[in-house]
Amino acid sequence: MRFRTVLLLAYSAIAPAASAAIGDDLLRVHFIDVGQGDAIWIQGPAGECTPAGLNILIDGGPNTGPNNRLITYLETYKLEQGSVIDYMVVTHPHDDHYPGLLDVLRRYQVATIVDSGFPTAGVKYQAFLREAKAEKVGNKSSTLVELRKQPGFQFTDCADLHLSILLSDSDKAGLGSGNSRVNNASTVIRLEYKAFSFLFMGDLEGKDRAAAADKSGTGEKALLSQVPAAKLRATVLKVGHHGSETSSTLDLIRAVQPDVVVIESGRKAFSGTFLPDQSVVDRYKKERPGALIVRTDDGDEAQHLDTMNDADGDDIAILTDGDSLRVRQAKLSSSGKRHWITVKALSK
Ligand SMILES: [Zn+2]
Repeated sequence: MRFRTVLLLAYSAIAPAASAAIGDDLLRVHFIDVGQGDAIWIQGPAGECTPAGLNILIDGGPNTGPNNRLITYLETYKLEQGSVIDYMVVTHPHDDHYPGLLDVLRRYQVATIVDSGFPTAGVKYQAFLREAKAEKVGNKSSTLVELRKQPGFQFTDCADLHLSILLSDSDKAGLGSGNSRVNNASTVIRLEYKAFSFLFMGDLEGKDRAAAADKSGTGEKALLSQVPAAKLRATVLKVGHHGSETSSTLDLIRAVQPDVVVIESGRKAFSGTFLPDQSVVDRYKKERPGALIVRTDDGDEAQHLDTMNDADGDDIAILTDGDSLRVRQAKLSSSGKRHWITVKALSK
């Protein structure tokens, strides 16, 4: 389906804030600025599966404690302590994805925790899994799903809201080694609501850093070969592995054909380079010239931020009633205040 781009006023006064009224018919997908890392909160529309709508988290960023921006954000937008989170997905056991979820287990009631099942001996991650196993909703024990043991796991299907796992960790060969292998354990999720769809890639990779972008390998090759094309095409793509050169091969971009490209990243240096790689941003611009690219490290380089202060509120919220969709960004104005601005609107 092709969408119409709707003309925008720069500061659209009529649009609600990122999360104005809970319990309406909007699907809200929040990409929270946690610096280098991923944290995504999905608020389902009222009446889809539950009266108030589903709460789903995909990853929680790197920080536990007072610097946990996921918690700050959930509290700012009135997800009150003790509320039920229906699903918590940990895409893979890396430090920029799961530590922030520990505070969520402690403050909220998480019904189902979905773990890749990738075997890791890391002490910190084992401690996280222990807390996940002890989680309860009221007096009822929560469910911990380890996808490697339960590859057939499915989310509850709602009337119009559909969440599915396109890829989860397997012990198949060809998924790289070391940190790349862990990234390729990422759970890849598709979300559909009426005319619009989202693809959340975790840190899935597709090639070696030095390899050309026109040939996909490892995780992206597995995704492209296992999933029908219609299930890969998506309105919004949360780019794999923070926009690193090891992801976003041309085959993947051409299969997804995103209208909105979301990159979650911060100011952590990897061998002297920061994510996203400019080469990857350029690939999206060339392949999808009309697409909007939005980033949680928006302006961080120009402001000379580093890992101590890069989680500074460059949040992105995408709202849709299923017929039209708005991408909103918490932009810093010259007065130093944040304002939610609609930066793209689509209509079916
Ligand atoms: Zn990561």
